[in-house]
Amino acid sequence: MVRVNENYTLLQGSYLFSEVAKRVRMYQEKHPEKKIIRLGIGDVTQPLVPSVIRAFQQGVEEMARKETFRGYGPEQGYEFLREAIARVDFQERGISVSPDEIFISTGAKEDTANFQELFDTKISLAIPDPVYPVYVDSNVMAGRAGKLSHGRYTRFVYLDATLENDFKPALPKKRVDVVYLCFPNNPTGQVLTKEELKQWVEYAHRYGSLLLFDAAYEAFVEDPSIPKSIYEIDGAREVAVEFRSLSKTAGFTGTRCAYTIVPKEIKVRTKKGHTLSLHSLWFRRQSTKFNGVSYPVQRAAAAVFTPEGQKEIREVLNYYKENARRIRDAIVSLGLPCTGGVHSPYIWFKTPMDSWRFFDYLLENIQVVGTPGIGFGKNGDGYFRLSAFGDQSNVLEAIERLKTLSW
Ligand SMILES: *Cc1c(COP(=O)(O)O)cnc(C)c1O
Repeated sequence: MVRVNENYTLLQGSYLFSEVAKRVRMYQEKHPEKKIIRLGIGDVTQPLVPSVIRAFQQGVEEMARKETFRGYGPEQGYEFLREAIARVDFQERGISVSPDEIFISTGAKEDTANFQELFDTKISLAIPDPVYPVYVDSNVMAGRAGKLSHGRYTRFVYLDATLENDFKPALPKKRVDVVYLCFPNNPTGQVLTKEELKQWVEYAHRYGSLLLFDAAYEAFVEDPSIPKSIYEIDGAREVAVEFRSLSKTAGFTGTRCAYTIVPKEIKVRTKKGHTLSLHSLWFRRQSTKFNGVSYPVQRAAAAVFTPEGQKEIREVLNYYKENARRIRDAIVSLGLPCTGGVHSPYIWFKTPMDSWRFFDYLLENIQVVGTPGIGFGKNGDGYFRLSAFGDQSNVLEAIERLKTLSW
């Protein structure tokens, strides 16, 4: 038999979502008359907006005619899409990012998972807890984790986000090579102010570190004092890569289109001390292992950046934001300390009992399903995540049911 990549044996079982599904199924079998409301999902529910659908269909039509048919596209993504992104997301907001610093991909999951390939296996990493599990598992697979001990990997520096620090991790006490940050955060919904994010950029400059900034939820930011992009901070272009996605912004979770910004200023070094451009390395990686996003999808994505597309997605985002605000108010009324729900589709709160007991309590008493915090890391124990991506009528019903609770 063939020997496996031993690193895969170090992965922790991703039993969370299967366990949630199992408990919900068992409950529904016992109580077929009960209506279960799911506020656990991290997936959108509203359809693609009309201008996106039209561009998508036109893209398909072009593929049907010899004169307009397209084969392989540029690995980095079509110029029309990169130009639109650079203009609308950055330049019109006074941020300097050029089209050739943007790499179009099928997802921010893929990009955040793949990016670590560019670095030595021995580099040190700081990873938040609780966290989007992709950052952890992709580095475990690559052999950077060390051993698993009491639910934590020995070689990672964990950035604790707890009620005590308002879910804003402190800077690491020692130097680390690479730091993963995600704001607005999944799962906590917390955001950083410009001043707070600036501390991270300064840390990276001081220690020669690199920040991998996941901005998948930037579209939920409403207040100009909260940065949507790390490049709103002076000096970030030398030390930060930013990951963005149309998944939560424009409902592309099933359509697949995201983009990563690698500024040309960022330098990395070889063992012998030669400097290389990170942008060139990522370009090399993508052109070797990736052949681009489908043409109709890139046409659909470009429609997001037209004035009409922007207006339409804003309406959908407002629908989710209104859900989020309502769920947050309900949790606050219950007297549970919480974060998120503003600038974020997630509401994260401290449970009056452990995560799984609270899950069962909600399911049995009011048939509302959420996500136990423990699924996002050790610090998630005793916390719970509700999502605002559901239908408004379900959210309103869930809120009425939440009001009946007492413990
Ligand atoms: C949903 C999500 C993404 C987006 O992933 P896609 O692969 O683009 O769908 C990225 N990061 C975080 C933290 C997310 O929650």
